[in-house]
Amino acid sequence: MDCLFCKISSGQLPSKVVLQDDEMFAFEDINPQAPVHVLVVPKRHVGGLNDAGDRTLLGRLLETAARVAKKKGIAESGYRVVANSGREGGQTVFHLHVHVLGGRQMTWPPG
Ligand code: 5GP
Ligand code: ZN
Repeated sequence: MDCLFCKISSGQLPSKVVLQDDEMFAFEDINPQAPVHVLVVPKRHVGGLNDAGDRTLLGRLLETAARVAKKKGIAESGYRVVANSGREGGQTVFHLHVHVLGGRQMTWPPG
């Protein structure tokens, strides 16, 4: 499968790993939009939220996002978890991922 996040989460391409387990992989975004900007992906290829019928996987994805926030020291100050979905949602990599953003005051609405 010619997929960027499959290659990163399998270690075929390098990344700055934040944490991983048997199912999930978390790594630093290459173009950070906040002092903390980590991506969490399932190691198994899923194109996006529309293709993620697996509740257990989605639960573990969010649980991993919270673990990332704790590890990066922003669990208490607060953070934002974002899943850009589809073209107008701003998704550019079509392997399911959530962004964990924090370390500064987030604004609303997002762009
Ligand atoms: P999306 O726009 O699909 O929600 O998010 C894709 C994210 O992947 C972007 O924030 C982008 O900076 C990040 N990204 C794209 N290519 C790479 C890469 O090769 N390595 C890492 N670490 N992040 C990447
Ligand atoms: Zn993939």
